[in-house]
Amino acid sequence: MATLRFTFGTMGSGKSTQVLQIHHNLRARGLTTVLTTQLDRSEGRVSSRLGVSAEAELVEASTDLFELVRQRAATLGSVDAVICDEAQFYDSVQCEQLARVVDELRIDVFAFGLLTTFQGRMFPGSARLMELADERTEIQVEARCWCGERATQNARFVDGVQVVSGQLKVVGDTGGPVAGEVTYDLLCRSHWMEGANAARGDQLELLDDDVARPGDHPDRSGPVEVDPDAVPNPLHVTPPVEAASHSGVSS
Ligand SMILES: [Zn+2]
Repeated sequence: MATLRFTFGTMGSGKSTQVLQIHHNLRARGLTTVLTTQLDRSEGRVSSRLGVSAEAELVEASTDLFELVRQRAATLGSVDAVICDEAQFYDSVQCEQLARVVDELRIDVFAFGLLTTFQGRMFPGSARLMELADERTEIQVEARCWCGERATQNARFVDGVQVVSGQLKVVGDTGGPVAGEVTYDLLCRSHWMEGANAARGDQLELLDDDVARPGDHPDRSGPVEVDPDAVPNPLHVTPPVEAASHSGVSS
């Protein structure tokens, strides 16, 4: 019985190392594998921090994974397992294609990926794999936040400051923040949220500055001085109670 396994973890939890380990183990037993990955900088290789690497099929947005595996099976005679790195970047349809590889081609699929983005949300691909997988396993690595708590959240930094907006896929190095670069680090939930809330606050401030262009509306920074002589006469007689609320109805 073929199975769809989804193994997830944070950045730096050793997903690629496990991908390469499974790939190596199966090949050592004479089995045929298809290895896939999906990050631009990978250039068709899966490589681990520990210095091992292997050639991989680069999955693009247009790649039909079911067709890819079916073709490889036809060319190679058979395929025993498909091992997918960076599966969080596969789209929902591609994750469904992996399920079809299991159900229709009877080939085991080992998918590995991050669970959540730097914005603290599930990657669409990972969400679909969680929904579809026969087995779901979290890689437990005792990564620590700088405060000493267990680090469970992926954080992105620009110029050393945590951000929560931007493209999902921006290549950077894991490790401590480096000025002028996009970097990633692992934080505990509490410190991740602290940084994320600060980043959201900065965004709101930017938005506010943008809206409050001079001339758009009265200056709100201090008391508004009104020269009574400059106010048109009728306003002194009839208070403008309903005037504003009816003005926009016809537009
Ligand atoms: Zn912390």
